This record gives sequence, C-alpha cells and structure tokens, in this order.
Amino acid sequence: STILTQKVASTLERKSLREREEQLLSKLHKQAITDEMTGVPNRRFVFERLEKSFDDIEENSKEHFATAIFDIDHFKQVNDTYGHAAGDEIIKKVCNIATSIIKSPNIFGRIGGEEFLAVIFNDSANHLQEICEKIRTTIENEETLFDNQKIKVTLSGGVCFSNESSSVSDLVNKADERLYLAKKNGRNKFYLKEE
Ligand code: GH3
Ligand code: MG
Ligand code: MG
Repeated sequence: STILTQKVASTLERKSLREREEQLLSKLHKQAITDEMTGVPNRRFVFERLEKSFDDIEENSKEHFATAIFDIDHFKQVNDTYGHAAGDEIIKKVCNIATSIIKSPNIFGRIGGEEFLAVIFNDSANHLQEICEKIRTTIENEETLFDNQKIKVTLSGGVCFSNESSSVSDLVNKADERLYLAKKNGRNKFYLKEE
C-alpha cells in the first residue's frame, strides 16, 4: 500500500506539473500576441492574420475582407499639452471604443504608437463605411478626463478591400495612402476608395 500511495502521489505530481506547464505556455503565447498597454492584439498578431486571410482567399477563393488603418490626429500635441500619461489614456480609450465596435471574428489591433489596424471580413463597402463612421464619431464625441482636464481627440483612417490589391503589402500601402489623404484633407475622416 505504501508503494501504491507513492505511485499515486508521483502521478498526481506529474499531472500537476504538466498542467502548470500548459498554463505557462498559454500565458506566454497570449503575451506574444498582445499589446501590453492596451490588451488588444499586437502588430505581430494583426499582420499574421492579414497574411493568413490573404492566403485563404488565394487558395480557396474564400470571402474577401477589408483592412483599415487608423491614426490619432495631432497626437504629439496631446502629449505635449497634457503629458505622456494622458496620451496613454487616450490610446487605451481608442482601443476600448474600437474593440466595442469591431467584434470577433473581425480583428482590431495596435500596430504602432498611435496607429491601429483592423481586419474586417466579408462586409459591404456601405457597412464598412458605417463601422468607420461609428468609430470616428464616437471618438470625436468622447471626452477623457485626466487630471481634471477634459481631453478630446479625433481619428483618421484609410480602408482598402482585399479585391483591390495583389498582396498584403499592396493592401496595406493602399490603406495607408488613403489615410495620408484623409490627413491631408483636414483629418477626422475615413477614406475608402479614392474620393
Ligand atoms: P498626425 O495627425 O499627422 O498623425 O500627427 P501626430 O502628431 O499624431 O503624428 P506624429 O507621428 O508626429 O506623432 C505621434 C506621436 O505619438 C509621437 C509619439 O511621441 C507619440 N506616441 C507614440 N507612442 C506613444 C505611446 O505609447 N504613448 C504616448 N503617450 N504617446 C505615444
Ligand atoms: Mg502615426
Ligand atoms: Mg497621428
């Protein structure tokens, strides 16, 4: 009975170690694909998804998708006026709002300081325009209270559909060009096709 007890104990110990190992691996995996400050998917994850989605349509003529690149307007000025910590709060706020509007299986992530990218599947241009407008106006109307100061920001964006492009880099470049155009034409705008 002593040997049996020892065997049971060592089996239980091994099981518990295995479970702990699985938990650690899953935690590491989550960390590797998550933006630490905001909790949204990071650049690595978003671009991997983008590549995969593009391969899927090429291989199995799967559903088309769109990508949107967003950038906070005059963000340097926000940092200069209210401080870096206030800027961080604004970035988190933008992520919360965008995530509440862009729902799974669509993806919204942070690809740089104050830049974000969304992958939105199988949607019409009209509906995509609606989603972008909702994000844009919600942010435009939002006030962030920081150190008793009310901070407001706006967002610009560029959108490109997968069927307008021949590769992921082409897709991202086109979305980026439209974002640039939105900035050039006064900011607080989202551009889909050339307008
Ligand atoms: P534009 O409207 O043309 O986009 O102007 P902008 O000022 O937003 O763009 P610019 O690229 O000149 O400045 C971006 C600023 O974002 C500069 C950088 O210090 C700030 N930034 C980048 N990452 C972070 C961050 O994690 N937190 C904070 N608070 N600021 C950041
Ligand atoms: Mg930027
Ligand atoms: Mg900016």
